[in-house]
Amino acid sequence: MKVPLLDLQPQLEQLRPRILAAFTRVLDSTGYILGPEVSGLEERIAAYCGASFGVGLSSGTDALLAALMALDIGHDDLVLTTPYSFFATMGVVLRQGALPVFVDIDPDSFNMDAEQAASILAADRKNGRKIKAILPVHLYGQCADMQKITALAAEFDIPVVEDAAQAIGAEYPYIQDGKAQWYRAGSMGLCGCFSFFPSKNLGCIGDGGMLTTSDERFAGLVRSIRNHGAEPKYYHQRVGGNFRLDAIQAAILAVKLDCLDHWHQQRADNAAMYRQLFAAAGLSDDPVVLPKELYADVEGAQEHRHHIYNQFVIRVPERDALRQHLQARQIGCEIYYPLCLHQQECLPAQVSRNQHFNEAEKAAASTLALPIYPGLHKEQIAYVVEEIKNFYRQGG
Ligand SMILES: *Cc1c(COP(=O)(O)O)cnc(C)c1O
Repeated sequence: MKVPLLDLQPQLEQLRPRILAAFTRVLDSTGYILGPEVSGLEERIAAYCGASFGVGLSSGTDALLAALMALDIGHDDLVLTTPYSFFATMGVVLRQGALPVFVDIDPDSFNMDAEQAASILAADRKNGRKIKAILPVHLYGQCADMQKITALAAEFDIPVVEDAAQAIGAEYPYIQDGKAQWYRAGSMGLCGCFSFFPSKNLGCIGDGGMLTTSDERFAGLVRSIRNHGAEPKYYHQRVGGNFRLDAIQAAILAVKLDCLDHWHQQRADNAAMYRQLFAAAGLSDDPVVLPKELYADVEGAQEHRHHIYNQFVIRVPERDALRQHLQARQIGCEIYYPLCLHQQECLPAQVSRNQHFNEAEKAAASTLALPIYPGLHKEQIAYVVEEIKNFYRQGG
């Protein structure tokens, strides 16, 4: 049996006529840049995420870049972020001439450790306040500890840019007086940055992204920056770029958005089946550490989507051998991410190479993402678990 890490065919088959109709509509309109397709999608995504405004952008990377540009983050400014993410999170900081300050991750969530963030921010205040933004990532589809992070942001008066590329629709509980209030990714910081790269839970047929915010001034600024800072046309008060979302991508995303909650549910069902089978095989949580559902015990959690499972990531000590075993049996799996951001060769000299972030490094050495996409068959999930069981039966 073959089990790809990701297969987009099932969702394509389901939607082909509607996608082709959307495609033809935009083609015949001859309006290919921004326009009603993009603004319509912006409104829908903003509403879906619980924010007031959406700004369609050319990719998740460009959403992050435009956010930092709008915040005027530049040369020698510092941005507090995680060492364990896709490269874009750090890449946009470096492209602005700014430098990342890393906070190690919480091993249960793989996300920024808010306690450590607090002590770094306190030290920064003593050093003259060079940290200009906090950039947490909601990795794999589960939100970072936003209650603590946004409290720090308020205390230190620093904006939060959420890297929500993997977390559209993921909900997070703020607890007050013993009661939970749930917020969606992209509605908790100053802004949220989303990616529609095909492998994300909501993906287009190319590159695309979106920024959400409830700050009208900030939304306007990002809108201007995505179009060379022109306001009005041909008059430039600032330098922006071409970071526009294509009308064709927006039209296709609008079709797919109708299915997003259903796809989220299929991913959650697949995750539940993995948990069941790993437990039945006697593999969880030793040696196979399953992804933690951090907010599952909060009151009312069953009515909220606290993990959207963009990835289902296990941890195992024998990761590389297991990966080989699975790949040899045509089971797709991947390492997100094999090298931490603080270990990347492109880092400028000002960022010390002698820093260690133990939890991030341990994660990079032990994580493995298994197939979880909507449309994955039960027999395929069973086969994946069976093969992992065989691996350990053979001695690991
Ligand atoms: C995918 C991703 C991005 C970048 O999005 P693109 O649309 O590929 O530019 C940024 N951050 C994280 C965490 C991502 O997973």
